[in-house]
Amino acid sequence: MKFCVVGAGFSGAVIARHLAERGHEVVVVDERSHVGGNCHTERDAETGVMVHRYGPHIFHTGEERVWLYIQRFGTFRPYTNRVKAVAGGRVYSLPVNLLTINQFFGRDMGPREARAFIEEKADHSIVDPLCFETQALRMIGPELYKAFFRGYTRKQWGINPTELPASILKRLPLRFDYDDNYFSHPFQGMPEHGYSAIIRHILDGKGIEIKLNCSFESLSEKFHHVFYTGPIDRYFKFRTGRLAYRTLDFERFVDDGDYQGTAVINYCDEDVPYTRIAEHKYFAPWEKDAFSRTVCFREYSRLAGKRDIPYYPVRMLGDQSLLNRYIDMAREEKSVSFIGRLGTYRYLDMDVTIKEALDACDIIDRTLQSSELS
Ligand code: FAD
Ligand code: UDP
Repeated sequence: MKFCVVGAGFSGAVIARHLAERGHEVVVVDERSHVGGNCHTERDAETGVMVHRYGPHIFHTGEERVWLYIQRFGTFRPYTNRVKAVAGGRVYSLPVNLLTINQFFGRDMGPREARAFIEEKADHSIVDPLCFETQALRMIGPELYKAFFRGYTRKQWGINPTELPASILKRLPLRFDYDDNYFSHPFQGMPEHGYSAIIRHILDGKGIEIKLNCSFESLSEKFHHVFYTGPIDRYFKFRTGRLAYRTLDFERFVDDGDYQGTAVINYCDEDVPYTRIAEHKYFAPWEKDAFSRTVCFREYSRLAGKRDIPYYPVRMLGDQSLLNRYIDMAREEKSVSFIGRLGTYRYLDMDVTIKEALDACDIIDRTLQSSELS
């Protein structure tokens, strides 16, 4: 059978590989000039540093199946994401941990004392926090919320934290020890040769034809089934309206040697227009000293216009109706499956993307087997 996979990011690559391994013909189309989707990495022409073109990507997962799968296609080096945050002109450690709490409040508390101290600040009148703000006030109290989260979140999402779901904040841990690892997952790392090399490897199989600089809309071939990882509203030609996305503008600059001494510094104050600065050579600590110059990107977030790259789906609280209309339309589209971050309009990390694509492969196997039997 002949299948089409729209999008050469992780979602598309995993599905395409699976179909090809089952002996099918697969055409992968991507309108970009490269594979990798938003995880694309490439060497910076001026400095030689491996850059994450669409923003910093750190691989982390709790799913052993995903960790074993990804390592079939490339070597991962140990990498721990240790983020710094500037608030009120001072540098702190993120996610909020014992060092952050002690530095911020000028104390020298131990874990138990700090836990009780933050519990005291937390708003216990909030029982079941639904929005970002109430979740923050319940979890860390007003001072830490205002310093680290309110301004940054307004810059990142362009709306008040009262309009955002609590789930966005729940991505971040709160720790009462000095563990400053941004993630809590047992498996973490950075691909030695970048993400695009891994995705090229996944797609490097008999039966896969890759068409780059090619939009799905421009194809005239017919397929048994299409796996669509592009924006769901775009597939339906925005028939009932556009789903909102945040896009990012990256301001690139080069410096001699070191610029900020670490990979990521978040800027939490609202009067600083960017959200963070990433210095990409720090994402590859095993080779960082090989470069005489360093390349950094200031990151600015804004509402995506028609021609902008869709980065973050803005899933505002109480605003599901447009999405639900597209989900209903997608259910009617029997020869197309919608997957991935854009296909399902969800805020998905790479590991979840891969897991969902692997789960989809299990469903594909069951469906193909039952159609062969009947
Ligand atoms: P994508 O990577 O977006 O791929 C979709 C592809 O489809 C694109 O290449 C696009 O060009 C193509 N396409 C779309 N429509 C069409 C069409 N009609 N015709 C042809 N081609 C089309 N995850 C982590 O785990 N760790 C991180 O640190 C992390 N950091 C992130 C930072 C940022 C700034 C962002 C935005 C995301 C981050 N993520 C991170 C999430 C990660 O980027 C996603 O999980 C991943 O990219 C999803 O893969 P995907 O294949 O579903 O979608
Ligand atoms: N966030 C914040 N201040 C920070 C870091 C994160 O307010 O210094 C908020 C912000 O709303 C962000 C959310 O927490 O969208 C989740 O953070 P994460 O680092 O997971 O965001 P991402 O890497 O996906 O941009």
